[in-house]
Amino acid sequence: MTSVAIIGAGVTGVTTAYKLLARGMTVTVFERQRYAAMETSFANGGQLSASHAEVWNQPATLIKGLKWMLRKDAPLLVHPAPSWHKISWLVEFAAACRHYRASTQTLTRLAMASRKHLLDMATSEGIEFDLVRRGILQVYEDAAGFKAAERVTSILVDAGLDRRAVTPEEIRAIEPSLSGRFHAGFYTATDFTGDIHKFTTALASACERKGVGFHYEADVAGLRPTDGGVDVLWHGAGEAPAERDHFDAVVICAGVASRRFAAMAGDRVNVYPVKGYSITVEIADEASQKSAPWVSLLDENAKIVTSRLGAQRLRIAGTAEFAGENRDIRMDRIAPLTDWLRRRFPGVSTETVVPWAGLRPMTPTMVPRVGPGRRPGVFYNTGHGHLGWTLCAVTAEMVAADVAAGVSAN
Ligand SMILES: Cc1cc2nc3c(=O)[nH]c(=O)nc-3n(C[C@H](O)[C@H](O)[C@H](O)COP(=O)(O)OP(=O)(O)OC[C@H]3O[C@@H](n4cnc5c(N)ncnc54)[C@H](O)[C@@H]3O)c2cc1C
Repeated sequence: MTSVAIIGAGVTGVTTAYKLLARGMTVTVFERQRYAAMETSFANGGQLSASHAEVWNQPATLIKGLKWMLRKDAPLLVHPAPSWHKISWLVEFAAACRHYRASTQTLTRLAMASRKHLLDMATSEGIEFDLVRRGILQVYEDAAGFKAAERVTSILVDAGLDRRAVTPEEIRAIEPSLSGRFHAGFYTATDFTGDIHKFTTALASACERKGVGFHYEADVAGLRPTDGGVDVLWHGAGEAPAERDHFDAVVICAGVASRRFAAMAGDRVNVYPVKGYSITVEIADEASQKSAPWVSLLDENAKIVTSRLGAQRLRIAGTAEFAGENRDIRMDRIAPLTDWLRRRFPGVSTETVVPWAGLRPMTPTMVPRVGPGRRPGVFYNTGHGHLGWTLCAVTAEMVAADVAAGVSAN
């Protein structure tokens, strides 16, 4: 039987494990944390959103990045300290502006295909993950923002997405609890939301029950492609001596660490850590529960998204920060999320707000790297950036098919 190692038990690693297992392979997952989904797949925006598939590769994004460099509460913050990694990534990001339309449509199609795989996995394994199927509503305060969104919408609709413009009255009817004056919006009924952490940990348990081996607190220190596969060098917790295991193939799903593993395997996968923040609001009292939205939102001016995670939790996420592999939770970046909640949903109590920061593993084109590397036996499913929750289920299927084809070709 083909043996496959996976590095990383975030949402991409665990969905990949599931799909490889379904193809009859023997799967072992290495994860440096004590549990699955403790890094970027912990507390994200919750949206499974084909409507958010637009890539950021536009000259306007670069201009905003420069303009906002010294504004601490800016939705996009590029720290001025230079690093070779940041500069090389930004240069490639700028060069990818010419693929803006094609990349956006690629992500839209992948996102639409991913929905079915994700829901199938959840149904087959009986996974409860606070799924809310009420669509995603994007709102715009001014005519200029809405006009720009109309151009994006035509690209998304061309790729097959059903997304319709809505008037301020329709916005109120779709989500009555939302305060504010809006010029117009867009509504995508087929998008949905759910808790990435609940899903990933439950799927990891299902994989474990079906025979996937999980090494937690296992820090992978090296990869060595060999003629007959790949050696994985790893350290267990504490003083455990280094171990070396041999596999027919390895799939790198290591989030922001993927670039380092790719270098070990002779590939260049330029993933940059783009930090984002979220708050999870405990909405315990009845008044707050009634005042909190059920329909998922994207407020385009603030670049903030929301997801209702069951009756008692509301997730609010946003911001993009280029500050290297820095996981600090900065309160001056959290404050705009809480302020936004107070402004848009004044009836929701902010007594219990849990802040979080995560690093989006982002490629310069914003299209994930999925498929084989240069050396036989090395595969990637990584670099999903702002859309990992949305895209993971279909990219897991794609890489599993590649592994099956690649290993049998060797
Ligand atoms: C604020 C924010 C909001 C977001 N909102 C959304 C959203 O609404 N919708 C959406 O689709 N996406 C969203 N995303 C993006 C999405 O969360 C990510 O794309 C996704 O979680 C990435 O998953 P991953 O498995 O690639 O990475 P991770 O979840 O980070 O998993 C990688 C794993 O590799 C492990 N690892 C790394 N190095 C080693 C090593 N040496 N040895 C062993 N293990 C190792 C790590 O510990 C980690 O567990 C958001 C992200 C952020 C930050």
